[in-house]
This record gives sequence, structure tokens and C-alpha cells, in this order.
Amino acid sequence: MRRRPPRWRSSPPVVSPSPDPLVIKSIEFLGGMATATGWRPEPRLPEVAFAGRSNVGKSSLINKLVRRKKLARVSNTPGRTREINFFDVNGQFVLADLPGYGYARVSKERRAEWLPLIEGYLRSSPTVRGVVQLLDARRTPSDDDLLMLEFLASQGTPTIVVATKIDKLRSAERAQHLAVLVGAAGIEADQLIPFSAVTGEGRDELAEAIVQLVTGKQ
Ligand code: GDP
Repeated sequence: MRRRPPRWRSSPPVVSPSPDPLVIKSIEFLGGMATATGWRPEPRLPEVAFAGRSNVGKSSLINKLVRRKKLARVSNTPGRTREINFFDVNGQFVLADLPGYGYARVSKERRAEWLPLIEGYLRSSPTVRGVVQLLDARRTPSDDDLLMLEFLASQGTPTIVVATKIDKLRSAERAQHLAVLVGAAGIEADQLIPFSAVTGEGRDELAEAIVQLVTGKQ
């Protein structure tokens, strides 16, 4: 049986009493990590990394999460797209924006060229608390997506799975598409957060999940 990415919470989600579980007070770009053994910021704060294929909506999601219009744009400027970009959020945790993968067709059996950097990052990050893995709500997960999920499972890295661009699905299609993602990712239904950078759906739920990860509170 395929290993599953570990859960990031043990109980059903609680409704947050606060209107915004993650109020953004400050954000600072710390720099980029370009190679598996290259520079990275001192691992002082808890870290949460964001992963997904190119065009899945990662920059849009990060910008929505931290309520900035162009924060994640730096990761889309030439030269920075293959790097892991680090941001200090509120002096509370470090957000690591992993490079988008999946342009080159790589079979699941072959080792993807993007994996060593991510492996190197996780190995040099004793403070990493978990990974937010993005999957397009409308699409069947790619071989790269499945490779990443299996890699996270093999590392025992707590994983929040987000279904992006959920606004593009009609309400009648939602349940079926989400069930496909749950099945393909080998997760339980409450491990998946439907998200839209357009409507803001899922922003607070994701923010709360991240706060739970970085504070260790379940
Ligand atoms: P990245 O390559 O993963 O960083 O993806 P981007 O954030 O740049 O988004 C890729 C494309 O998808 C852009 O055209 C975005 O406008 C669009 N997009 C991203 N998120 C959403 C969403 O939640 N809903 C819709 N309808 N479009 C989105």
C-alpha cells in the first residue's frame, strides 16, 4: 500500500473565534536558496514550505494568504524561478516558496531534476514544520505531484493539501473533483482545503492550519 502524507491535525477543524487567524504585521524577504547545499537563512524560526506545479496558483495563494498584492512576484522574476525563496512572516515563522515543478515531462519512476533541491532544503531545515502542497482542483494530480506527495510521505513531513482555483468549478462538480484529489493523494477528506485566490475561499482555514503547524497546537 502506498504511504500517505502524515496528517497535520488530529481532530476536525475548529472554528476560529478570531476573525483572522493570521494577522500580518510584517514580511521580510530573506533571500533565495539555489542549490541543494547552497546558502539558506539560519534555521531559527519554524518553517512552512509551499509546493506545487508551475501555474497551479502558488504565487496567487501566497499573496492572498499574506494579504499582499505582489509578495511572491520575486519568485517569478528571471533567475529566481529555480530558487527557494524565504520570507520572514511577523517574526513568527519562515515561509519557504519552493520552485514550481512540472514543465519537463518526467515519469514517476525517473528522478525529477527538481527533487534534489527540495530534498537538500528539507535536510538542512531542522525547523521545518510542514509543507503546503497545492493541487489544481480541476485536474488529476500529475506524476510530479504524486512524486512530491510520496516524497513527503517518505520523509514523514506533515502535509496540508490545498485544492486551488476552486472558483472554476461549478458547485455540482466540486464534490466529485475533490474526491478525485483525496483518492489520488491518498489523504483523508479533511486533509484537503479548497481554496480560491479570486473569492478568498479557504484563506482563513489555510491560515489557521499554518498557525497550528508553526505553534504546534492541535
Ligand atoms: P504559480 O505559477 O503557481 O505561481 O501560479 P500563479 O499564481 O501565477 O497563477 C497562474 C494562473 O492562474 C494566473 O493566470 C492566475 O491568475 C490564475 N489563478 C491563480 N489562482 C487562481 C484562482 O484561485 N482562481 C482562478 N480563477 N484563477 C487563478
